[in-house]
Amino acid sequence: MIYLDHNATTPILPEVLEAMLPYLTTEWGNPSSAYKFGAKLKSVIETARQQVAELIGAQSMDVIFTSCATESNNAAIAAALKANPAKRHIVTSQVEHSSVLNYCMALGKRSQDSPQSTQSSQRRAPQSASVFSVPSVVNGSSDGYRVTYLPVDGEGLLNLADLGDAITDETAVVSLMWANNETGVLFPVEQIAEICRSRGVLYHCDAVQAAGKVHIDVRKIPVDYLSLTGHKFHAPKGIGALYVRRKSPFSPLVYGGHQERNRRGGTESVPLIVGMGKAAELARKHLPDYEKKVRPLRDELEEGILTSIPDTELNGHKTQRLANTANVTFHGIESEALLILLDKEGICASSGSACLADSDEPSHVIKAMKPNTAASRQMIRFSLDAATTPGQIRSAVTAVERETEALRGVVSQS
Ligand code: PLP
Repeated sequence: MIYLDHNATTPILPEVLEAMLPYLTTEWGNPSSAYKFGAKLKSVIETARQQVAELIGAQSMDVIFTSCATESNNAAIAAALKANPAKRHIVTSQVEHSSVLNYCMALGKRSQDSPQSTQSSQRRAPQSASVFSVPSVVNGSSDGYRVTYLPVDGEGLLNLADLGDAITDETAVVSLMWANNETGVLFPVEQIAEICRSRGVLYHCDAVQAAGKVHIDVRKIPVDYLSLTGHKFHAPKGIGALYVRRKSPFSPLVYGGHQERNRRGGTESVPLIVGMGKAAELARKHLPDYEKKVRPLRDELEEGILTSIPDTELNGHKTQRLANTANVTFHGIESEALLILLDKEGICASSGSACLADSDEPSHVIKAMKPNTAASRQMIRFSLDAATTPGQIRSAVTAVERETEALRGVVSQS
């Protein structure tokens, strides 16, 4: 198998599994118990919290363990809204992960102006074009939230002037990601954070795809909330984290016991927390070499495809992008058809977010970048990892070349 879908998920590293094993076998107590067998696990959780905090330059007290980044994203937005009950407006972008977009849509109701259907003429006026008038579900009141979905340009970049224009006195929170899961395009988080701070608006950043791939330091970037998930950097699935800046408002999404200093109820999953901690420690250790290892292989894959296969096009900015991600449109070829053939060759890639893979919807990210084209139905995302080898890349390019030729042959004969 040649696995080129690391933005979907990553394998658990042997060191991570090894660190977890005692907590899956002999050390199975409940950290909230009063006796030592359980209570000693509190310090194990705190070590993991410290490891995760160090990956993002945070103080460990400011990190809350959650079940996944979907929960972290929901919790951050909900907390910001609850803290500002008089402010009824959210700003996000058309290319966020579904865990942000669908939550924002749930705070509202669909209108004819869905982010997926925004046309280029509307893209120049995000405030009026993409604002949804919605009933509130967060604080149970019947008056609604409005959501602005900022557009991106053809390369997946935000126009910061649009962000400035979209923020009003009514805005409670801005939620804009660090790195896009489909294209790898990096948003200018430092500038976004500065704009939010200067306008007195809370800023939540979904940093799921950035963690372990680019340097994150919340001491330098004034985000209020930052979401992470373990399974994108070699921890198991089912464990996430939310950083909350010390003075930023927070109230739980999940109410229950006193776990996580009353910020997230539920008995802690010690093995998963330990796994995320160890994976964060390893990600931090390997970060200085990550780009050096991954970028040349990604470039080889990308150039191999773009030069040897006709009618192909890169999606996403050439340089302002994660080093591991290549998103390519194969004009005239349906993504699904190519993915099936690649799967038969043992190559794992995807046509967008894994969370939406079972829907028939084309990529909302590519659609936002290239409206009025078929690009969103004809693209493949390849995402590499430090363990990807040159041999795998060569085989992948050859296989993609072979299968696109086969598919185009079928199309031209029919
Ligand atoms: N945000 C981004 C950018 C993602 O890529 C993903 C997962 O694909 C998530 C959030 C959701 O993460 P989780 O699977 O932990 O809920």
